Amino acid sequence: MKPYLLLFLLLSVAMSSIHGQTDDQWDLLITDVQVFTGNEVLKATDIGVKDGMITHLGPQLARQRRASQVINGEGYTLLPGLVNTHVHTWFPFHLQQAAQAGIFAVCDMHGSAFTAQLLGQFKDTIGYAHYYAAGSGATVPGGHGTQFGMPVPTIDSVTSARQFTLDRIAEGVDYIKILREPMRPTLSFEQIDTIIQTAHERGVKVVSHVSRCADGVELARLGIDGLVHVWFDRAMTDEELRVFEQREDFFIVPTTLTNMKLLAYFEQQAEKPAETLDSLGILNEIRRLHGVGVQVLAGTDPPNFGINHGSDLYEELILLAAAGIPNQECLAGATVKSAHYFGLAGPLPLQVGAAASFLLIKGDPLKSMEDLRQLEGVWQKGRRIFPVQKR
Ligand SMILES: [Zn+2]
Repeated sequence: MKPYLLLFLLLSVAMSSIHGQTDDQWDLLITDVQVFTGNEVLKATDIGVKDGMITHLGPQLARQRRASQVINGEGYTLLPGLVNTHVHTWFPFHLQQAAQAGIFAVCDMHGSAFTAQLLGQFKDTIGYAHYYAAGSGATVPGGHGTQFGMPVPTIDSVTSARQFTLDRIAEGVDYIKILREPMRPTLSFEQIDTIIQTAHERGVKVVSHVSRCADGVELARLGIDGLVHVWFDRAMTDEELRVFEQREDFFIVPTTLTNMKLLAYFEQQAEKPAETLDSLGILNEIRRLHGVGVQVLAGTDPPNFGINHGSDLYEELILLAAAGIPNQECLAGATVKSAHYFGLAGPLPLQVGAAASFLLIKGDPLKSMEDLRQLEGVWQKGRRIFPVQKR
């Protein structure tokens, strides 16, 4: 055997044994941490991460194994990535702001084919939230959604309602958004019915903006999948509540924080509409919907009222808990249930084989939702993206 060949063989053996050792290591080990998987709570659990994946999860893992980084998780809680199910996102830095707050998916509720294409490029990129799009929301000439200065396709007949829906689906949108807002000219229920039927025939979900109770009830009757605001004009009658009770798999993104800011705005401007709920009245509507089985999801509607694309989602969750929804259900709504109801790719429950994408919170948001404000770290596919690492 030629000497260099022998050297090569020896080197290969040496390399493979180093490799073997590396395989036996974790990149990150968090010990004794409370884990909310998205489905259940695991107390005092160890979590081992390797190559961006959760490879081990359980009490007292074999800690003699080496880990590049070990974090004592006692007194901390680990959550799956969050979803903001009502945003208006225009720029990549909005997606960064979201990701740094542990929000790995956002559902845009009225954008454009251009933004969908621009922001869609950041899909699966570390440091950015995954952007899901409605494209343009469905509205009429002069209706809600046409006042923001960007060109918007509009609907003026039942035929064009059908064509609008087919156009959005051809664009590749993730769901259809309807803008039912009677403060301006708005879509008729006949046009809305056409949109819902056309989308459902093609397996696409439909959600709607509402501000009036009667509209929310009528849209639920027409078979819409979910509402992306709760109304603020009046309380449901018990008969109206039964309409929601009879729906299966119905969901609402009440944008509570937005509504609270809207009420404050009404107070300031002294232009309060004749019929308006107060803040407790709004929380009560959310509690009643939850009580009859409507799934409540978390969304904040940034940048309306100066709401940010990141940590303001925690404020929404604090309000949902204040409405009387159990903390674990609020957190499930903001994570795996959002993925389920909107048909998103993630987040998936934290388990072995899932991406190591999670938030580490000091304290216990399952007991006190305010603890969400004590964000300690965010990892996306095993990479720590918060606090922002200086190079
Ligand atoms: Zn909105």
